[in-house]
Amino acid sequence: MAVERYPRVEIDLKKLKSNVKNIVDRCGAVGIDVAGVIKGCNGIPEAAVQFAAGGCKYIASSRLEQIEAARKAGIDKEFMLIRVPMLSEIVDAIKLTDISLNSEREVLEALNKEAGVQGKIHQVILMSDLGDLREGFWDKDELVACAKWVETDLKNLKLMGVATNLGCYGSIAATVDKMEELIALAERVEAAIGRKLAYIGGGATTSLPRVMEGVMPARINLLRIGEGILLSRDLPLFYNCPMDFMYQDAFTLKAEIIEIKDKPSHPVGTIAVDAFGRKQVYQDRGIRKRALLGIGKVDYGDPGDIFPRAKGIEVLGASSDHTIVDVENADREYKLGDVLEFDFNYASIVYATNCPNVRIVTI
Ligand SMILES: *Cc1c(COP(=O)(O)O)cnc(C)c1O
Repeated sequence: MAVERYPRVEIDLKKLKSNVKNIVDRCGAVGIDVAGVIKGCNGIPEAAVQFAAGGCKYIASSRLEQIEAARKAGIDKEFMLIRVPMLSEIVDAIKLTDISLNSEREVLEALNKEAGVQGKIHQVILMSDLGDLREGFWDKDELVACAKWVETDLKNLKLMGVATNLGCYGSIAATVDKMEELIALAERVEAAIGRKLAYIGGGATTSLPRVMEGVMPARINLLRIGEGILLSRDLPLFYNCPMDFMYQDAFTLKAEIIEIKDKPSHPVGTIAVDAFGRKQVYQDRGIRKRALLGIGKVDYGDPGDIFPRAKGIEVLGASSDHTIVDVENADREYKLGDVLEFDFNYASIVYATNCPNVRIVTI
């Protein structure tokens, strides 16, 4: 029998699909389509397939490579590019996606031209920056004028709507006020172009609490959801929004013990800096049983972003390729070769699923 290699990310596809369906159903009940955002797990095709099977209207990613892989996996959905396109990726954006989020006239012009070359109609959503200060038109008059220009002059583009992004750079909450502001802007666009827009996109996972609370304004009819489906950790943790109906353990990080010994908890010698040049503080708790794992920062980022499933285990720290955990108070006796399981947060799942040394396994 082949030896199972570690570290690995294990994906429970049934739990993931259940998560997708739960969000799609709750949004659908109030007239909201879901663009399922697959970038949080590097767009792993087996996971992307669950986003489609669970009923997402669009399969969305910031990265064309992931969309290409999802297409190759045979997913029969429309694909949405959610990072405003680079001028250098216009050809592939038209080839691989059906709809994109946009904030620059020059890009829209290039998309229009390339869509013409490829004989396609490409759908666009114009982004409004409502204060989070990442992508989007800041000047609302400029967005309205741009919408009118797309509508009348760019024959190979179809203006589908307006949308916003919140809670990313500027940490701005998706309040009902922000939603109303977006709807008012959409209605200005509608007045300018003389028709209704198909979509008003009210943001991402951080907008879900408004849906749960039943206060999402009726005209918001599109959300782009990633973390809320993959892990559903951030909403209960940071937004006081219980998500008990979701699996938070659809993804598991597994790492192998490569050394297990009793050692002092405080380093011995002159303290300088760690492997990454940082000054660290160490607590002296005497001699403790510590396990060394064959996984490190290269694989998941920050050791504070992985969470042992078993009780009594504590992550002490890490270097590039090693993680040190205290197992002194663990429920069971660990030995060399044992495998420890961890939960992710958004940061660690993004890194782990993007790391070529971490195997991806589905169950
Ligand atoms: C990443 C991203 C999303 C998804 O965000 P989640 O918080 O994972 O739901 C939605 N929209 C845009 C523009 C994004 O970049």
